[in-house]
Amino acid sequence: MLARGIAFSAPRAPFQGIEYELSPAPHEVIVQVAGCGLCHTDVGFYFGDVAPRAKLPLVLGHEISGTVVGAGARFESLIGTRVIVPAVMPCGDCPHCRAGYENTCTRQFMPGNDGHGGFATHICVPGRYVAPLPADLGPYSLPELSVIADAVTTPYQSVLRSGLRRGDVAIVVGAGGIGTYGVQIAAAFGARVLAIDIDDAKLARLRDFGAAATFNSRGHDLKTARAAVRKLAAGAGWPDFGWKIFEMSGSAAGQELAFGLIPPSGTLAVVGFTLARLELRLSNLMALDATCFGNWGCAPRHYPEVIRMVLDGRINLKPFIQTHPLSRIQPLFEQAHHGGLPQRAILVPQPQEQP
Ligand SMILES: [Zn+2]
Ligand SMILES: [Zn+2]
Repeated sequence: MLARGIAFSAPRAPFQGIEYELSPAPHEVIVQVAGCGLCHTDVGFYFGDVAPRAKLPLVLGHEISGTVVGAGARFESLIGTRVIVPAVMPCGDCPHCRAGYENTCTRQFMPGNDGHGGFATHICVPGRYVAPLPADLGPYSLPELSVIADAVTTPYQSVLRSGLRRGDVAIVVGAGGIGTYGVQIAAAFGARVLAIDIDDAKLARLRDFGAAATFNSRGHDLKTARAAVRKLAAGAGWPDFGWKIFEMSGSAAGQELAFGLIPPSGTLAVVGFTLARLELRLSNLMALDATCFGNWGCAPRHYPEVIRMVLDGRINLKPFIQTHPLSRIQPLFEQAHHGGLPQRAILVPQPQEQP
């Protein structure tokens, strides 16, 4: 089957249409792409901050929804099924996978990183982990659900791993593409959620979607920000220990603040990514009996529960997404690079882009 994608051949080089043949191996399926979300990671690849693992030219995009239209022998029964393609797919058979560490599988496949991704008409992926959707998508179109891969599942896994319980205090640093869902998911788990960002508009929006309190850290140094957050928590009658803190800004300032906020028996989840380095006193973790962990993607086995949470309304995508024709990819990447996209952009291949 012929696929048509929009690829880049060098950092910052203009995107160009390319055509390539897809023929599924017995364990693979071909998904006709309905929509593909534009993630911060794609922007990092395109602008040369990080190199993708596959050679260029490469079609980016790893937040994919679509319909299975072709399959190798093992997955023919999936043809016609509407699916979410997990952003990171482990092999399922290596020592990491067998030990239950599938997120660090050394043979994992991430579309738009290990091979051509979702800014295309079709994609070829392992059939084992695509997550089927039910017949009723509620208020959503199939393209809109693409952001479940990565943007929604990644914060879900981090909340799960933090051991968050009903009544806990959750602090989400960074109210952007991932943080908006981190806030909603923590609230759905029964937490009292504080959202922190440097953008009042983003914070205001989250008060209707799970944030019990918000704090704008712009203009604060670590000391004044920490004092303000402690005062806010005390005023709300929240405990001053055991906070679950989720760093989702992927910025040095956000990481510094998140680490600085760790209280006794606290937990810090590092979910956002930055190349910046920080100077930290790690012994704070020891002195506070605290926990810190990192989170890479989300294991495919969690996708069905996240799909349920979106379709039953516990997680709302609508205010935070906008669909665009795939042909708008160039200006959207430029806009995303300058932080000018108020909603996550979902790129939708148009009928005329089919080969
Ligand atoms: Zn991503
Ligand atoms: Zn593996």
